[in-house]
Parts: sequence; structure tokens; C-alpha cells
Amino acid sequence: MSLIPDDVIEQVREAADLVGIIGEQVELKRTGADFRGPCPFHGGTHRNFAVIPKKGMFYCFVCHEAGDVFTFFMKRLGMDYPTAVREVARRVGITIPERGPAGPDPHEPLYSVVATAADWFARQLRESPEAEVARQYLGSRQLDLETVLPLGLGYAPRGTAFLDAMKGLGLRDDVLLEAGLVVKREDGTLLPRFRGRLLFPIHDQRARIVGFGGRILGEGEPKYLNSPDTPIFHKGKLLYNLHVAKHAMRKADRAIVVEGYFDVLRLSLAGVEEVVAPLGTGLTADQAQLVKRHAAHAVLLYDSDEAGLRATFRAGDELLRERLRVSVATLPAGEDPDTLVRQRGAAGLETILKDAVDVFERKIQILDRKGFFATLPGRRRALDRLLPTIRAAADPITRELYISRAAEVAGVRKDVLEREVGTGLEARGSGLGTSEPRAPSPEPRAIPASAEKALLLLMLEGDPWKARVTEAVDAEEFEFVPYREVFEAIADDAVLSLSETSARAYEELKAEGLDDRDPNALYERAVNWIEARRLQRQLEDLDRRLPFESPDGQAALIAEKRRVFDELRKRYPRYKIAMRRRGAPGT
Ligand SMILES: [Zn+2]
Repeated sequence: MSLIPDDVIEQVREAADLVGIIGEQVELKRTGADFRGPCPFHGGTHRNFAVIPKKGMFYCFVCHEAGDVFTFFMKRLGMDYPTAVREVARRVGITIPERGPAGPDPHEPLYSVVATAADWFARQLRESPEAEVARQYLGSRQLDLETVLPLGLGYAPRGTAFLDAMKGLGLRDDVLLEAGLVVKREDGTLLPRFRGRLLFPIHDQRARIVGFGGRILGEGEPKYLNSPDTPIFHKGKLLYNLHVAKHAMRKADRAIVVEGYFDVLRLSLAGVEEVVAPLGTGLTADQAQLVKRHAAHAVLLYDSDEAGLRATFRAGDELLRERLRVSVATLPAGEDPDTLVRQRGAAGLETILKDAVDVFERKIQILDRKGFFATLPGRRRALDRLLPTIRAAADPITRELYISRAAEVAGVRKDVLEREVGTGLEARGSGLGTSEPRAPSPEPRAIPASAEKALLLLMLEGDPWKARVTEAVDAEEFEFVPYREVFEAIADDAVLSLSETSARAYEELKAEGLDDRDPNALYERAVNWIEARRLQRQLEDLDRRLPFESPDGQAALIAEKRRVFDELRKRYPRYKIAMRRRGAPGT
């Protein structure tokens, strides 16, 4: 047996005539976009067995057998996966290259145990009395069981029934552990990882279930819990629903990226198939690459609140780095894709998608609405926010357009801006993670970081401090990248999605705590520092621009410099003193 390359499997799956193949064994009749017939698995006589060509899958509403063209052969004829692929390939006339003896996939036991667990969870959702809470929850979101069961949703009960069931099926503890389905307590006993949760199965590109996302039902933390990373589940490298969406993505040449599982569900039930979501975290570079593999255009459809916008532009930058065209669709305030489709239907959604604007243009709109372009310092700060997106645009034409547009709205010369974009590029690749690093600052890091840290310590005290800090500073103002990520995570209530480094920073901050420090004084000092640094940065930018201006322009810049300098000295006299002590340049 040999391993068949993924792209070949994909080719075979896409070429396969699912209706034709299943139709050889089942008498199918068209009903709308799907086909129905008697189920060959439980031997039914009514038309409870559906073949859904658009999703490339079959599903029985009685015995709940489900799968794709390959699983059909596996389940009907007892073939293993590679044999099923070869059989379908033979029928569609695709030659599968032999790649020598590679042996069976070493992760086969993991796939198998996760699939078994998924079946069991799905049965709980259908049948168990305890799952009534999950069924009611779905009902409250206007999703009926008939609709979600074919999508493989499940329920994980609160107790240890899962452990008993898996044991009864002869599954080994170590495999359950490795698959991330159970956790080991300190005393060595095992506990199901998912308890009291509605489960969304997460598939890899070959449509195999590799993990779960679980939403809590009732009170409890966290709201969403994913499988941990395992040899087959890497949450930063998978997209929810991609195994279904990729066909539609290729056809429509666009991908709609949403934030949550329910958004995906709602959109695909409304007939929009090309929809994917990251797994409870910000979109990663790997995920952006996955999108790129199937479509050239991405539409971001996130909430319109502050947190949603931050996530939108983060994701936008990642997608721009992959040379995608990126648009932002804007939902009415307070709505998410789920509520929107429920209230206005697919037509309402289509209108919003049609009105999507380019991500860069959207950023300008928002800055404009906040009054950034009304003053010179405001324009400077606006540019600081536009630059990361310009730098992210890996496509040279897109970048050129962005530079022209930014020069126009901020009233700066294009060549000056081009130079500044270039400066940032040289500073890239400094190993600061996925965020766009800013140009290296001449300031020493220790003091700014302690101001940044003070703000985070305050946020960890909860409201009202959290609200005050998020009001006073933006994420971009955190220079220390792990702190910036912690800031965003606390602001968005998403600390579980932190990267490893940032999670460590978060834990350290939590361990440190405020102690007996006076929060008011701490807040005052830290915000002053950040504000002073903002002004200091303005001065540096003015200095950089100076040599490139006409004499008139230089006079204006010098006047502006004077003003900023005075403000800095007047409002934050101690800033300069601290800088001098540290021997910073230019003092
Ligand atoms: Zn059946």
C-alpha cells in the first residue's frame, strides 16, 4: 500500500460522479438540489437517504450513516481508504502515481478513534435525554435537528459516560489521550475533555474528522473549547468547513471568512457554500495560505464592533501577504452573520456581500469617521495605522494602489510614503511572530514595556480598569509583541487563543498581579508614558520627513515640530528625564 498525494485525492473526489456511483446501488430521485432514495445501509424502503452533490456527501436521516464518495465504498464494500480512492480513480480515469511502499498512515489509530468518538457524540445529540439542553439550545438559535445532524454535530455529556462508552468499544486510553479526547488529572485518573458541550466536528482537507470545537451549554468557561493540538489536529492550520467549502470556493473564486462555527452553519444553510472560519483564533498565515489555494478573493464578514474590526484587519493583513484580494463586508451594528441571515435571509446577506469594500478602503473609512484626517497629527497617526496594511500587500500592484490612496487621503507626497513603506520592510523578519513589526524604535525597551505591562496588570483586574485601558490605548501602541497580543486577547475575551509565547507572558502577568500598588497612580503614569511616546514618535517622523520637503513644506513641518515638542515638554516633563537617564539618542 502506498500513500496517495492529497491533491490527487482531491482531483479524484472532484471528478467523481457521486450521484452516478451511488445511483448504481440505490434508486435515486431528484428532490430540489439533492437526490433521495431508500437507504442501502439500514435497508430502508422510504426515501430517507439523501445524496447532496453540492456538498459531495450522502446522509441517511434514519440510521445517520454519512460520508463522501470514498466512505461510501468503504462502508458498502469494506474497502480501506486507499483502495476506495483507487477504485473511484479507476472509474473517473485518473491514474494514481505509485510512490513506493510507504506503509499505512501511522496516525490511522487517531483518525479512527476520533471518528468513533464523533459517531458517539452525534448519537448523544440525537437520543440522550441529557442532550435535551443542547437540542433546546439549537432550537433557540432556530436550528432544527434535521438540519444539523447531517453536519455531524454532537453532544458531549457532563459526566464520564464517554469514557465508559469508549472503553466498551475497546479503545485504549493512550490513544484517547493522544487524540485529545480525554485529559489526565493530577491523580492519574482520566476525564473526558469535552463535558456539557455542543460539539462541532472539525475536518481536515481529506474530509476526515480530526478534532472538535465545543460550545459550553449553560454557565461555564471557556465558552468555546477546542481539541488540543495532536498529531492530526493543528488548529492554526485548519479551517472550519474547508473540506466542504473548497469546491464552492473554486467555483465562485471567492472565500467568505467568518469568525464562528454558527456563522458558517448559518451561511451554508442559506445556500452560501464558500464559507470558512478559523478555529476560535485570529486567522493565521497558514490558514491564509489555505484560502489562497482555493480562491483569489476573500471577503471578511466579521462583527462590526471594535474587537471584530481588530480581527478583521489582522486577518486582512494575513490574506494580503498571500496576495489575495481582500474585501470587508460590513454588518449592521450589533448583528453577526448568524443573526443577520436569520432576520433578513439569504437575500439580506447577498446585499451585504455585494457592498463589500476593499480592506484598505474600509480602514480609511473608519479612520475618517473617527476624525483622523482632520488634523495633521491625526493624519500622521492614521498613516501609522495604514502602513502595516500597505506593507502586508505582497502583490506589487495592490501595494502601489494602496500607497497612492494613502498619500491622497493623508495629504503626503507619494515618494515620502514609498520610502516609509520601504523602511518598514527592512525591519521585517525580526522574528516577532505573525504581527507586523513596526520600524525599530531608537528608544530603549525597558521603560515602555513597563508602562505596557502596568496597563495589562490593570486590565487583569477586570472592569472598570479593563474598559478604561482599552478606551485610552490601542493595540498598536504596544511595542512588545507578546504584550500587544495579551492586550488584544483580554480586550476580546479570547485569552485561550494566545500563542505560546504570549500565553506565557499572560501567565506571568497574572502571577505578578497588582499587589498593593495604587491602580490610579499606576494608570496615570502608564497612560502618560504611552501618550508621551506617541508625541515622541511624531517628532521622529517629522524629522524623517524634513529633508524631503520643499522650503515651504519644511517651514510648516518645523512649526509643527515646535508645537509637538512644546506639548511633550509641557504635559510630560518627566518623559525626557527618564529618556536621558537611559541615555537614549537625541536627548
Ligand atoms: Zn439508513
